[in-house]
This record gives sequence, structure tokens and C-alpha cells, in this order.
Amino acid sequence: MTFNHFIQSLDLSNSESLKVRVLLGSQVTDSLEQIAISSTGQNVALASSIAKIVFRENFGWIGPESENYNAKCEQNWSATCHLQPSCIILPADKHEVAKALQIITTLKVPFAVRSGGHNPNRGWANAGENAILIDMNRICDVVLSQDKKTVEIGPGNRWQKVYETLHGSGVSVIGGRTGDVGIGGLVLGGGFPSFSSEYGLVCDNVRSFEVVLSDSSIVNASLTENPDLFWALKGGGSNFGIVTKFTFRTVPIDKIWFAARIYEPSFNEQILKAIEEWHKAAENEPEGSIVHHIGHKRTLLGWIYSSPVEFPPLFKMFYGIPYESWFVESTIGTVLDFSRSTSKVLGPPQKLRRDAFGLSTRSSAAFYTLAYNRWRQVSGQLYEETGCDMGMVVQPLTTSAMKIGRENGGNALNAAVESQQWMSYLAQWKNEDDDECVRKAVFELGDYLRETATKMGILLPFIFMNNATATQDPITGYGSEHIARMKEVSKKYDAQQVFQTLQGDGFLLRKV
Ligand SMILES: Cc1cc2nc3c(=O)[nH]c(=O)nc-3n(C[C@H](O)[C@H](O)[C@H](O)COP(=O)(O)OP(=O)(O)OC[C@H]3O[C@@H](n4cnc5c(N)ncnc54)[C@H](O)[C@@H]3O)c2cc1C
Repeated sequence: MTFNHFIQSLDLSNSESLKVRVLLGSQVTDSLEQIAISSTGQNVALASSIAKIVFRENFGWIGPESENYNAKCEQNWSATCHLQPSCIILPADKHEVAKALQIITTLKVPFAVRSGGHNPNRGWANAGENAILIDMNRICDVVLSQDKKTVEIGPGNRWQKVYETLHGSGVSVIGGRTGDVGIGGLVLGGGFPSFSSEYGLVCDNVRSFEVVLSDSSIVNASLTENPDLFWALKGGGSNFGIVTKFTFRTVPIDKIWFAARIYEPSFNEQILKAIEEWHKAAENEPEGSIVHHIGHKRTLLGWIYSSPVEFPPLFKMFYGIPYESWFVESTIGTVLDFSRSTSKVLGPPQKLRRDAFGLSTRSSAAFYTLAYNRWRQVSGQLYEETGCDMGMVVQPLTTSAMKIGRENGGNALNAAVESQQWMSYLAQWKNEDDDECVRKAVFELGDYLRETATKMGILLPFIFMNNATATQDPITGYGSEHIARMKEVSKKYDAQQVFQTLQGDGFLLRKV
């Protein structure tokens, strides 16, 4: 990279160029005016200083000396991800993302990308002192097209804002179920929505991605433009580029029905049996989904139906189970109202340490009961020892939900086209001293579930990236053919393998 090319790509004034020249000093070789960076990772401070000139403090640049640095470092949902990067770049648009990548790749600096920051894995969506964090929060437009067929969503949004924008328009999108959760990571990991039997996974509803590649070029990926990249981004995670816009198809959902009840633990086995029964019924009636969460003291079960029909017969197996109270009373409302109500599930944001574990199986009440009984033992003891609240969640998906992805051009996930559930455990605790103890319990539980499901012949290779802990390996579950295809796409669109070598961590192809 020549110095002039570098300066041009950053669009700097003469005085700013001069400052950058001084900063680079002997790194610019005299004869060829080449920027000569020998080893990776040694120029973080330099890159951070150049970024400060390009993005300006308190606009698009935040460093340790900035007023809101600590708040920004602690924006991630899990306290295990509260790290202190050398600086945080907040690009305002795709061109600024391209500039950020230009600085990072030229100076060979480790980096991370954050959208909502909801991923609980340390170093996935935040970075430590020897790296730069690119925070997408300022790229947050939500624009419904005039014909209402598509909606453009910036990755820095929360789903709440998307649903607020669409509220009253008569259409909606297939997105995250909790209003507070982020966009970028959720979509790139596949995305588990409501209404999957009618409209597929979240990623299957994307019509095009706008992506900044590692060479700072900006491309679109859709069925007709760069279709291989389009396919790979649907579930392939952060391996290929930085997504600066998701264009979704809209769906004709306006008024819906939803309700949720709280149950005492003594009814958990009955609920798990009813979930299996419901799952069978849902194969023939695609309009409904459930939300399920067994917590330490209470269980939450919610029903959501895509038409304004109160207590539809689809959920009849649940209605007679004795409940303690309503969490959300029977409501005819919109997707916005629903997302607001689910935001209450995990309560107000707290600085807790968090980890999740994911595993997928065929539907089986017998397995759920074994899993629950083991969970009860492990989580009970863990609670006694550490105060950690570990939740267990069964997330059923129908054959139709899996088929829609294939019909919409396919995706990288390679989840079987059959009825299945993506079980997840979510641990939340306060003290760093308990990290090891909690993780040990989570892994032991995971091993038990894997072994039990294997013995029962119901384990599926697919692991849902959005619910996986750092030491799980979801991409291997996508199968060798899909991995080979993803690696080809990665080499084609990231020739220097920047996203594999400089990106700090993630479910990256370099590990597979
Ligand atoms: C309260 C809560 C509710 C949830 N609800 C759901 C749900 O309904 N459905 C579901 O599927 N999951 C859900 N999840 C899980 C969630 O999808 C994952 O944690 C996801 O990783 C978070 O997305 P994010 O945008 O906040 O990503 P981040 O945490 O910001 O990032 C996650 C990963 O994606 C990468 N990334 C982020 N943005 C971009 C981008 N623009 N370009 C390239 N790479 C990027 C990051 O580098 C990182 O590796 C929920 C999580 C929480 C905490």
C-alpha cells in the first residue's frame, strides 16, 4: 500500500494527511513511499491515533481518554465481554466502515465488530487493549420501501426499533423475538424467530446484504448479485465481511394473538410432554409458535399466533395445565407489543456474567424429561454454590420452517429438513470467581445431553450458533460440503483472509 493511496482512501484534508504522515514516520519507506508494516498486532496505538484523526473524538472515535469510553466498553450484554479496546470506531455509514477496515488491514491490527453486543462469548463482539472495536451502532436506519414489500435495516439497530417503525404499516418482518436484542449477529447466525413455520428462519427472509469486504470494497449479495456470498452470509456468521445493511422482505402480519403464563416447577414435566404434542400439531398448522423458559424458580410458557384469534385450538394441550399467574395476559396486538412483552423475560439489563449452550435434537418428550431432571440437579447445586441462575429452553421448529430456507436459495446452516428443536441453556451469574465453576457445570450438562441424545438416536449435528458457547463448534455441524463451500467463498471475497487472521475471535472458519 502506498502512502498516497492510503491517504486517498481515508479522504483526508492536507493538514490531516500531514498529521498521519508524521504518525507513520519511518513506517513509510523513503524511496517507494510504501507503508511497510512487518508484523501483525504491533501498530495498534498507531492505528488508533490515525483513526482518531479520521473519525474524530466523540463522533466516530472513542478512546480510553474519552468521557463515554467505559460506558461503551460495557455495552455488551454479558459482563464477561466487558473489555477495553485500544479504541472504538463508530462508523456513520458503509464508506466509514470501509475506511476503518483500510486502517486495520494496512496496519495489520486485530479487530472485532459489534452490532447489538448480545453475544455472550468473550472477544466475539468486543476487543481487548491490543485491538480495535468497530461498533455499528450509528448505522441504524430502518426504511420501509414505498410498496411496503421490503425494509432496509442497519445492523446497529435493536429489533424494537424495527417493529416500532413498521407498527401501523400492516406489514412486519421475521426478526428477533426480544425487542432489545441486536440485528447483525442475530441474522448472520441464522436467527430464531416467531412464525418460522410460515416464513422460515430470520436469515431466510433477507433479500440482500450490503457488505464491506476486507479490501474495503462495498458489494451487495443477493440471489442475483454475488449469490455465493448471499448463501454464505445466511448462517455463516462473521467470516466474510462487515454487513452494513440487511434488506428484508416484509410479511403480511399485522394483528396477532399472544399470551404467556408462569408455572410452578412441579408442572415442568407436564409442560414438556405438551410441547412434544404441540410440535406434532404444529406440523399441520403453521400459524403458531411457543416461547418456553424454565428458570430456577418458575417456568414461563408463551403462545403466539399470526392471526388475531384468541386461544386458538392449536395450543389446546397447554390450556388446562395449572398455572400460577399470567406473565402476559391474552392480547390481540402487534409484533411490537409482543417484542415489548418478551423483553420482560430476562428483566431489565443487569451487569451479569453470562454463557449459553446449544444442542439440537429431534422432538422427544422422553429426552426433554431426562434433560430437565439432570438440569434440575446441576442447576440446583450450582445455584447453592454460586447463585447462578441457569435457564433451560426448548425451541421447537417444524419441517416447514426448515424447508423454506431451501426454497429461498438455501443457506449455510445445513440444518436437516425435518421437525426438530434447538435446546438452549443460559447461565447468568455475578462473580468472576465463579466463572470456572459455572462453565464446568454447563459443559458437564452439555456432555450429558449429547451422550443421552446420541444413545436415543435423536441427536442432530446442527448446533445453533446464536446459542452456542465459545468452545462449541457450530460450523463443523454444517457438514463438510457446506464448510468447503464457505471456505471457497471466504477465499474469493477475502483474498488476504483478514476476517480469519485479524478478527479476534468468533465462530471462524480458521478454527474448522
Ligand atoms: C435477550 C436476548 C434475546 C435473544 N433473542 C434471540 C432470538 O429471538 N433469536 C435468535 O436467533 N437469537 C436470539 N438471541 C441470541 C442472539 O442472536 C445472539 O447472541 C447474537 O449473536 C446477538 O446478535 P447481536 O447483533 O447483538 O450481535 P453481536 O453480539 O454484536 O455480535 C455477534 C457476532 O456477530 C458479529 N457481527 C455482528 N454484527 C456484524 C456485522 N454487521 N457484520 C459482520 N459481523 C457482525 C460479531 O463480530 C460477533 O462475532 C438473543 C440473545 C439475547 C441476549
